[in-house]
Amino acid sequence: MLNRQESFELSDLQALPKVLLHEHLDCSLRPATILELWAEQDFVNAPKDIPPSAIKAFMTKSSHNSLLKDTSLASISQQYQQHLSYCASTSLASYLQAISTHVLPLMQSRNNLTRIARERIEDAVADGIVAMELRFAPQLHTIDGLSLREVMDAVIAGIIDAPIPVKLAICALRHEQKELFDVLAQLAYEYRDFVSLVDLAGDEKKYPGVLNTWLESFFNLREYGIDLTVHLWETNEPQNDDLIRLDQYQIKRIGHGIRGSRQNGYILEICPTSNVVTGQFASFIDHPVDLLYRQGKNVTINTDGTLFTCTDLSVEYAKLANYFGWSFADFYKVNVTALEASSFSSRTKAQVLSKLNSQYESKQISLT
Ligand SMILES: [Zn+2]
Repeated sequence: MLNRQESFELSDLQALPKVLLHEHLDCSLRPATILELWAEQDFVNAPKDIPPSAIKAFMTKSSHNSLLKDTSLASISQQYQQHLSYCASTSLASYLQAISTHVLPLMQSRNNLTRIARERIEDAVADGIVAMELRFAPQLHTIDGLSLREVMDAVIAGIIDAPIPVKLAICALRHEQKELFDVLAQLAYEYRDFVSLVDLAGDEKKYPGVLNTWLESFFNLREYGIDLTVHLWETNEPQNDDLIRLDQYQIKRIGHGIRGSRQNGYILEICPTSNVVTGQFASFIDHPVDLLYRQGKNVTINTDGTLFTCTDLSVEYAKLANYFGWSFADFYKVNVTALEASSFSSRTKAQVLSKLNSQYESKQISLT
């Protein structure tokens, strides 16, 4: 039941415990970290479109150590993030291109991977996230010679001391070959203490119809407690072949799923702002998230990433409250849906649920 009288401060929403199922590590770096890491290599081979003011500020910072005040660096970082958001906007392809030019070259060393993963957890905790699945494609971090296992170990080093439950998801990408799918499936199996989920990501428009091949490699992982999710219906309408496979393999979790309003029984990992940034909808108010929720679909709310979208989960909640009148009761519901659908152990789920219950109860909502 919506209560349109409720109004929220962002701090109220940050304080709410939240479960995050769908976020990509390479879309969630701090903009200041990107500039710092490029400065460490004197911006050699950096993208040509990094604003000169950002290069100057961060070069100065790295050579003379804090000549500039943190406030001015924060403001320059914010401007840079706006620039990245602009680069990534208009299509999923431009979003993916922005990742590969601005971010991936910096995610090729153990230290950087560990730092980036650790910072993401710190920011997530500050955002009120109490359980998190974090996804990435290890094969994108081997360009400078790291092995897949070194990549996994580096990311795990960044999450191992997390104060909240964190599980990793390994993404295969739609344009990749079956041989690589098999290697990634084996990697997920070897790291199953940390990896609880595998995913199919990438450009759905350019590479439709690879679900079957992906399933051949990954489906057996379920026997070892690893769940499956797949990016679908983000840019394309549901296709019969995919629906048959989803049914046959009993896959319930769908990354995005925003074009699946006629489909029932799926858990939708909806990332509203991301869909606006990639041009799927003209603005937040045009996004079908509220419609899908009111239709009774199993909606969960996610970021997809915090960098190019200039968002975090509290900001997504604030937009849902402002544009669609979502209340504490609605936020509670989507979090319980997310938790139930998550790949965490039943023990972790019970612990997180009790946290959700106690915190949302204290907001004096009636829970049914
Ligand atoms: Zn995604």
